[in-house]
Amino acid sequence: MFCLKISETQIEQISSILETPPLRGVPLKNLTSFRVGGPADVVAFPREPVSFARLLSFVKDEGIRYFVLGSGTNVLFDDNGFRGLVVTPLRMKRLSVERNGSGLTRITAQAGTPLPLVVSRACRLGLTGMESLWGIPGSVGGAVACNAGASGLSVADLTTKLELVNTDGKTTELKKGDFEYGYRFCNLPPDSAVLQASFELYPADSNEIERKLQEVKTRRRLTQPRGYPNAGCVFKNPATDIPAGALIEKLGFKGTSCGGAEVSKVHANFIINRNKAKARDILFLINKIVEAAQKETGVVLELEIRHVKSSEDHV
Ligand SMILES: Cc1cc2nc3c(=O)[nH]c(=O)nc-3n(C[C@H](O)[C@H](O)[C@H](O)COP(=O)(O)OP(=O)(O)OC[C@H]3O[C@@H](n4cnc5c(N)ncnc54)[C@H](O)[C@@H]3O)c2cc1C
Repeated sequence: MFCLKISETQIEQISSILETPPLRGVPLKNLTSFRVGGPADVVAFPREPVSFARLLSFVKDEGIRYFVLGSGTNVLFDDNGFRGLVVTPLRMKRLSVERNGSGLTRITAQAGTPLPLVVSRACRLGLTGMESLWGIPGSVGGAVACNAGASGLSVADLTTKLELVNTDGKTTELKKGDFEYGYRFCNLPPDSAVLQASFELYPADSNEIERKLQEVKTRRRLTQPRGYPNAGCVFKNPATDIPAGALIEKLGFKGTSCGGAEVSKVHANFIINRNKAKARDILFLINKIVEAAQKETGVVLELEIRHVKSSEDHV
């Protein structure tokens, strides 16, 4: 059972673990790409793996409800915010590059490193493999946890090593093969968070890398809505040959709105925050789409974004 309120003493103890004091009552709309979500009771930004580990072990010992947040590009928080502690490794963003004799290069990035930075560093170093991930926002930790990907390639395909921390404060290392993954999921051990990930890449002709990048950039520019806050694709594709966007478009939802939220006219699997949308507006559209898909096509749509409730026993 989780305690509902973090006491003053607990906030002081959290403060003593961290390099910088935690913040109270932070509007989650400021920490998410949807720009939606009420206040979190407390938000902590550990700078070092050791403080991240100590913090997770503290929240377990104290029974504090917590949520690990990356860049917030794949989450929908409630309008009531989050009762408990939001921990974000966004200030842990060291990146290192190691080459071995055969040309193989390993890039290791801490959980808070922006994925786009890793992709652009790899491409600038003349390394191939990550081009299709260009344009996926978010942090390395979030990308691993969601197994973000595009055009048939996912982050886990390229991940050769993961360093995790769990709520006992212990760090573990997983190699490829030690963790299961699939379409937009990565089976991390329970109660663990990503500290860093390593990707192994090979050198290639830089013109070829640039050509692939241009292809990806053009595809994204033509197929994704721009200019309004969103969280990427809302639903997973129900099957490889049934894109959720095409199904939702067929059901006639393009341009449907509720409050400030709208099903994008560019790509029906995106819901955009057109004008100060509330989480309840977005959830209304989501429920309508799920109901219609099931009723009219028999397809059960599954969320790709993570809906985080303001309070419940476990997230
Ligand atoms: C415009 C746009 C385009 C997008 N395009 C794509 C796309 O092409 N392909 C795709 O797959 N996604 C896409 N996304 C979705 C999103 O960018 C990815 O899922 C991204 O990897 C999420 O990373 P994040 O840091 O923002 O994670 P968050 O949104 O912060 O968190 C997502 C999940 O990861 C968990 N998490 C975060 N950090 C950690 C950690 N260190 N350890 C353990 N768990 C953690 C959270 O608890 C949560 O469950 C898009 C989003 C937008 C806004």
